[in-house]
Formats: sequence, C-alpha cells, structure tokens
Amino acid sequence: MTAEAPVHFRRLALIGIGLIGGSIARKARQDGLVEHIAIATRRAETLDRARELNLGDSYYLAPEEAVRDADCVIVCAPVGASEAIAKAIAPYLKPGAIVSDVGSVKGDVVKQMQPYLPDHVHFVPAHPVAGTEESGPDAGFPDLFIGRWCIVTPPDGTDAAATDRLAGFWAAMGSKIEIMTPEHHDLVLAITSHIPHLIAYNIVGTAAHLEEVTASEVIKFSAGGFRDFTRIAASDPTMWRDVFLHNKEAVIEMLGRFIEDLFSLQRAIRFGDGDHLFDLFTKTRAIRRSIINVGQDTAAPDFGRQVAKPEVKS
Ligand code: NAP
Repeated sequence: MTAEAPVHFRRLALIGIGLIGGSIARKARQDGLVEHIAIATRRAETLDRARELNLGDSYYLAPEEAVRDADCVIVCAPVGASEAIAKAIAPYLKPGAIVSDVGSVKGDVVKQMQPYLPDHVHFVPAHPVAGTEESGPDAGFPDLFIGRWCIVTPPDGTDAAATDRLAGFWAAMGSKIEIMTPEHHDLVLAITSHIPHLIAYNIVGTAAHLEEVTASEVIKFSAGGFRDFTRIAASDPTMWRDVFLHNKEAVIEMLGRFIEDLFSLQRAIRFGDGDHLFDLFTKTRAIRRSIINVGQDTAAPDFGRQVAKPEVKS
C-alpha cells in the first residue's frame, strides 16, 4: 500500500470474476485499494480458478454471502444476470454500501436492478470502456483500465458523494472518468461499440457461409481487413448476446442509420460516383487521425503484430 493509493473500500465484493472482475481484483490487490476482496461466481470451477490465481481474500458460490458487510459491491457478470443477482443480494446489503456494476449496457441494468435494491444503499452503475476478446478469470490483468474511460451513470437522485466515491475508485484503477445518464451512454455505445461488434459478427458469419473459400482463401488473405473483424467476432458470445438483447432500442436506431448509409454507398458504387466515395473516405480517415491524436489508439501498423498476452501472476 502506498501513500498515493489510499484504501477506497474496506470490503469489496465482486460478483462475477471473469476478464473485468479479475482485472479489478488484480489492480485493487496490487495497489492496496481495498482491505478485503470477497469473490462470488456461479460455477465452482471458476471459483477454484480465482482462488488458485489468488485474486481475492474470501470466495463464495452464493453472492449474498460475498456482499455481507461489503462497503462496495460490483456486479461483473453478463448484463442478463443483473436482475437475478440484485434479487439475491438485496436483503444482505449493508446500509450505506455502494452497489455498482460494469455492464456494457446501462439503462436496462438500472431497470433490472434498481427495483430490488433497498433505499439504504447507493446504486451507482458504471461501465469501464476497456476489454479484450478474452474471458474468464485468467484473462484479467491489472493494467486493463489504465488510460481508458470509465463511464459512470448515476440514475436521477443518486447521492453525489457516493458517485464521487465510486469515480475515485475507478480513477485509482487508472481510468479517466466521464459521467452521463444511462440512456445517453446506451446511444453512444451503440454506435461506438455495439454496432461495430454486430458488423464483425455479421461479416465473419457471411464469410463462414462461403464454405468453399473459408478453408483456403478467406484465411490465407485475411490480412486484407477481414482479420481485424475476426478478432472482434471472437468476443464472448454470452456477453454480446446479452448486450444486444438489453440495448435493443438504441442498437436498432443506430442500425437503421447504418443500413441507410450502406445503401448510399451501394448506390455510389453502382453509379460510379467516385466523389461520394472519396469524400466519405477522406472524412473517415480524419476521424481515425483524431482518435490517434487524443491517445485512444496508436498509429503503429497492425499487420502481423503479435499481441503480447499479459503475464498472469498467481
Ligand atoms: P467473463 O470474463 O465471461 O466473466 C463473466 C463472469 O460472470 C464469470 O465469473 C461468470 O461466472 C459470471 N456469470 C456468467 N453468467 C452468470 C449468471 N447467469 N449469473 C451469475 N454470474 C454469471 O465476462 P467479462 O468480459 O468480465 O464481462 C463481465 C461484464 O463486463 C459484462 O456485463 C460485460 O458487458 C462487461 N464488460 C465487458 C467488457 C469486455 O470487453 N469483455 C468490457 C467492459 C464491460 P462462471 O464462470 O462461474 O459461470
């Protein structure tokens, strides 16, 4: 523990211990951000693995056991599990505790959890916009959140001090903090994350249907753009099924706009409208450059780059 890293919570309960829960646990432990980490997960083998990796101080299969006496509870399970978890933990939450989550969808998580949470706790949902296509407790690493945004989405009426306290914890995780409403979060993430994942799943699915080429040319020439889609399309099926089922309206709204724009590109190609294509590609290149300029990616070429697997400390 260092002077720069005060203890943020005495007892932190993590419900779900995959990529995100496992990364929170590693960072909190490494920097002494909490005194005790209580871990709950659904399956015994995941819990055993978390114990082998020494991610926490106490381990439970029942989430209600983990949350007893916790100052902060962070639900790190797929968003579709939020309601069942809220129901299970609600009667055991300590007065004054902060209850949060890391789900990639916010409005629906608020709908699933808020009705069950007692008035004596502070509900402060959040979404760390950081991840990889890996899942499970082995996939986590302490630096996952460094330099990445964490969007905190307190529902109307949330205690400001509780919001600040959770934001302070995420800042100690290394994140940059943005506060917005759950609904605004869902629209922004629909276009920046959910639709890109849907496109990747779709394009890789389309290629898979071209059976006669899949085994040969599609793989062989994948560096021509397809390979980057395959990385995104390798993301966890359960997590992403839940994202689309629980951010339905925003995804359908953004998908409608995307399809309209795709039709306009189809027309431009059909009618040989090179100016239309050139103008759009010039605009999109400027967007890419501005993303690099604000430090959200690097200009390093990706071709053949081996992504180093983070070292997992046991
Ligand atoms: P993950 O690696 O697959 O881990 C999921 C954890 O949740 C596991 O401990 C799993 O337990 C548990 N779980 C699964 N189904 C459950 C259920 N029905 N009830 C209770 N627990 C259940 O997932 P993750 O990538 O950490 O994602 C967790 C959350 O973070 C999701 O809400 C996701 O939207 C959000 N998120 C993900 C990313 C990303 O890039 N992956 C980024 C930001 C936010 P068992 O193994 O014991 O079944």
